[in-house]
Amino acid sequence: MSLNNDIKIARKWMYERIDGSTNQVSETFCQGLESFMEFAKKQPLFLENGKLFCPCYKCDNGRLLEEKSVWSHLYNRSFTCNYWVWISHGENYNILNNPENIIASEDASGFDSQTKTVNPYVSMVSDAYADGNQETSFDENMEQEPNAEAKRFYNILDAAKHPIYGTGPTTQPSGSQAAGAQRHVANHEPVENREEVAHVPVQHDVRVLHPARQNGAKWFKNNTEVSTCVRKIIEGCFRGPWYSWKKVPPFYKDAWFSTFQTKFEWDASIENLVKENFDQLAATRLKGMVSLAKSNGEKPDWILSDYWRVMSEYWRTSKAKDKSEKARASRLSRRDGLGVHRHRAGSRSYAKVQDVLEANNEDSSFIAVLKKTHQKSDGTYVDERARLIAEKFDECVQERLSEMENSNGEDLTIDNLTLEEKNEIYSKVRA
Ligand SMILES: [Zn+2]
Repeated sequence: MSLNNDIKIARKWMYERIDGSTNQVSETFCQGLESFMEFAKKQPLFLENGKLFCPCYKCDNGRLLEEKSVWSHLYNRSFTCNYWVWISHGENYNILNNPENIIASEDASGFDSQTKTVNPYVSMVSDAYADGNQETSFDENMEQEPNAEAKRFYNILDAAKHPIYGTGPTTQPSGSQAAGAQRHVANHEPVENREEVAHVPVQHDVRVLHPARQNGAKWFKNNTEVSTCVRKIIEGCFRGPWYSWKKVPPFYKDAWFSTFQTKFEWDASIENLVKENFDQLAATRLKGMVSLAKSNGEKPDWILSDYWRVMSEYWRTSKAKDKSEKARASRLSRRDGLGVHRHRAGSRSYAKVQDVLEANNEDSSFIAVLKKTHQKSDGTYVDERARLIAEKFDECVQERLSEMENSNGEDLTIDNLTLEEKNEIYSKVRA
C-alpha cells in the first residue's frame, strides 16, 4: 500500500460527510471532525490566538476563525479539496512516512482502527522548529463518547442536520476537470490499489495551470486565484521568523509547493516552469505580506509572537534599515509616472493602494491604481479627468492589442500586456 493511500484511507471520512443511507451527516464524519479539532487545538497558533484556520471548502484555510465557527463550517460544508495532510494545522508532509501517526476517525461500527492519535511533533525529525512540543499528549484510550463540548455542538446543530449542498464535494466531477482530477489521482496510486482508491472521492475543485491560459487554464501573472492560494499556503504554514524568502528552509519551500500541488494541476512537461513560477510568486507574496505587516507595525495572527519578536529585532538592525531605505527610494522613483493623483488624494494614499495591490500580486499598474482610487462600484468615475484618462487608456489598449500578433487564435485582453506596457500607455494618455 502506498503511503499516500494510507492517509487517504485513514482520512476518507473527511470527504464522506453525508451518510448515503440516512442522507444526513455521518457519524464517522462527526467523529473524525472531533479528532481533527482536538488535534488543531493543540497547535501553537490556536494556543496563542484562540483561533484556527478554517479548512472548509469555502474558507480553504484562508481565514482564522474561532473554534465554534470552524466546527460549524466543516459540519455544514465539508473540507476543502485534497486536504489530506493538515499542513495549515501543524502537520507536515513527512507524516506520510509515519503512517502510524495519522489521525483517523474511529469507525462508526465500533471497530478500533490501527491508527492512533499521536502528537505528530514527536517524529518530526526534519522540523527544525518543533522542539518545544515533545510530550505525547494524547490519551491512548480515546474517549468513546463525544466530550461535553462536542455534545453541546451536536445539540446546537441537531436542527441543522440537513445538508445544504446535498452530496456536495463528493459529487463526481464532469468534463475536462474530471479527466484532469482522475489523472491526478492516477499519478499517485499504484495500480494494485485502484479498488481501494475508488472509495476515495475525487475532489472537483482542482484547477489546471498553463501559461497559454486556454480552456479556462490559469497562470501565475496577475491571477488573483493563484495568488490567493499562495498567500493561504504561506499563512497556514509560517513556521519560523521568515522575514525574507532566503530565510525559509528548503523543507518548507517544498512543503508549500506540495500543498500547491493539491490545489492545481498541470502537464508533467511544464513541471519545471510551474515550480519556477511558484517560487517566484511565493517569494513576492512572502515579501509583500511580511512588509505590509512590518509597515503596519502590527503582528498578524498567522505569525506567532516568538517569530515576530525575532523579525522585529532584525528590522531594527542597521543592515535591515539600509535595505528598506533603498527599496523605498526605488519604489518612489517608479511612482513618478502617476502625476494625476498628486492633486487629489496625495501621493501617500496612492502609494498605499499600490503597496496593497503589489502585496496581493494584483495588477499594480498606474491605470489599475487610478481605477481603484477613482472608480465607484457602479463603474462611474469620481471626477471628469479620471474618466477621460481611463477611457482614453482603454482605447489605446484596444489599439495596441489589435496590433499584436495573436498566435493561438484566442482573443487578446489587457492581461496580455505587461505592467511596463500598461504604464507606458498610461503615461502617453496622461500627457
Ligand atoms: Zn470556513
